[in-house]
Amino acid sequence: MKDIKLEVSARHIHLTQEAVEILFGAGHTLTPKKELSQPGQFACEERVTIVGPKKNIERVSVLGPVRSACQVELAKSDCFALGIMGPIRESGDIEGTPGVELITETGSLTLDKGLIVAKRHVHMTPEDANEFGVKDKDIVSVEVESEGRKLIFGDTVVRVSDKFSLAMHIDTDEGNAANVGNGDGTKIRIIK
Ligand SMILES: [Zn+2]
Repeated sequence: MKDIKLEVSARHIHLTQEAVEILFGAGHTLTPKKELSQPGQFACEERVTIVGPKKNIERVSVLGPVRSACQVELAKSDCFALGIMGPIRESGDIEGTPGVELITETGSLTLDKGLIVAKRHVHMTPEDANEFGVKDKDIVSVEVESEGRKLIFGDTVVRVSDKFSLAMHIDTDEGNAANVGNGDGTKIRIIK
């Protein structure tokens, strides 16, 4: 079996091109800073402040490329700090989710929806899915080895596309719960 890479996603924002121009100026395009594991995806130089009733969260990174809808992905602890609770949702499934205000030095934008806590998931290619004996949208459990906090994560969605590369994505709360960090090479395995 291939090793599955475990990646811990910090809070981040996806924007539309229209939102990029509202927040950073007419004609502005996102500035790639670092490539991510999923082909074509990148972290950007641009940062945004999320405005909450309890507290603002500053310097939140923007991930590119631009999408067809804005989406704010927070850990549950971020939601408590901000004062707005996002539901656990798969990326892109934002109907009926709370909106939130975003500000930068050059603009502001109020979203009417898009605040979520991302449902943990494993990205894989069709070949990987075949090897692991799973298919797109399957719900699996994943055992994560750890220094003192070994954990089995249930309710993990399998996402299959030839545009993906093999990696499990959890958020910072989930990483902390298992005492694992991004890129520390933790061993994980899918349990059916
Ligand atoms: Zn992902």
